[in-house]
Amino acid sequence: MEELKNVNTPEEQSEYILEVKNLKKHFPIKGGFISRTVGHVKAVDGVSFKLKRGTTMGLVGESGCGKTTTGRVILRLSGEKTEGEVLFNGQEVYDLSAKEMRAMRPKMQIIYQDPFSSLSPRLPVGEIIGEAVREHNLVPPEEFEDYIDSVMDDCGLQPFHKDRYPHEFSGGQRQRICIARALALNPEFIVCDEPVSALDVSIQAQIINLLKELQEKRNLTYLFISHDLSVVEHISDTVGVMYLGNLVEYGETEDIFRNPLHPYTKALFSAIPVPDPNAKMDRIVLEGSIPSPANPPKGCKFHTRCANCMERCKVEEPVQREIEPGHFVVCHLYDEEK
Ligand code: SF4
Repeated sequence: MEELKNVNTPEEQSEYILEVKNLKKHFPIKGGFISRTVGHVKAVDGVSFKLKRGTTMGLVGESGCGKTTTGRVILRLSGEKTEGEVLFNGQEVYDLSAKEMRAMRPKMQIIYQDPFSSLSPRLPVGEIIGEAVREHNLVPPEEFEDYIDSVMDDCGLQPFHKDRYPHEFSGGQRQRICIARALALNPEFIVCDEPVSALDVSIQAQIINLLKELQEKRNLTYLFISHDLSVVEHISDTVGVMYLGNLVEYGETEDIFRNPLHPYTKALFSAIPVPDPNAKMDRIVLEGSIPSPANPPKGCKFHTRCANCMERCKVEEPVQREIEPGHFVVCHLYDEEK
């Protein structure tokens, strides 16, 4: 592997595995007779955050807010970015040549929502887990079988599972296979894209606990994308709330759940079910649906649905402010409190 250039100091590198600065990904909309570009879908529209090594950041928001695209753009799985920086261990991911990117790929992995469709039905599990290990020459051939066995063991799978096919497993076991496939490449960073949404609640807890165990054992860093706030609260150290391609609030999980600031975060959190039939739910119902990212509202993008909307919100874009240490919000309501 060619040596990668370092742009941060060694201290910064060791603390932050990932730094995303003003990341944008706009997809062209083609139309007309000669298929011209007639507009852009602004799926990710200026996202910035830092992720500490060995921690989990939860990324939450409604469907279509840009969570998944953000994860994919960070991993360079969606073609070229439109703007911004993605620094992985201090190295701009988009500056890497094809050869360097190939060498970097095992370090940055992804686990998908649907374990069934992300596993080849024609390959036995041992092959699925070991395919990329062989391709990247990660272990000597004589150690290959033992290595796959140990990765499977870490993920709660037995050696005899190697010869079986994905359809012979339950949903939870299939997700364990997906985790084992990612883990076999000895990654440092994993994007977990709704990894438990397709599973039963009882199985969800097992997979979340497995992810936490593996994180502790291997010092993994996760970007955990989910619309389930209870799961995010359980697994995340920090949380980012996305709306129409932007992070509208970001901070430590405890601060965000104790003191949500942005009207959108408050509305999302008001819908978390409480395990007490007598508890009074002060649910904030958002009017209308999320606007199109191809034509986002001017000013604050949330103003068309915000109960606190002021005149300036319709014309002036709010900027990010730090309200308490490490707790950031993008909303005019907090302009005076700077
Ligand atoms: Fe609501 Fe205005 Fe804050 Fe946007 S800036 S969230 S419209 S109060």
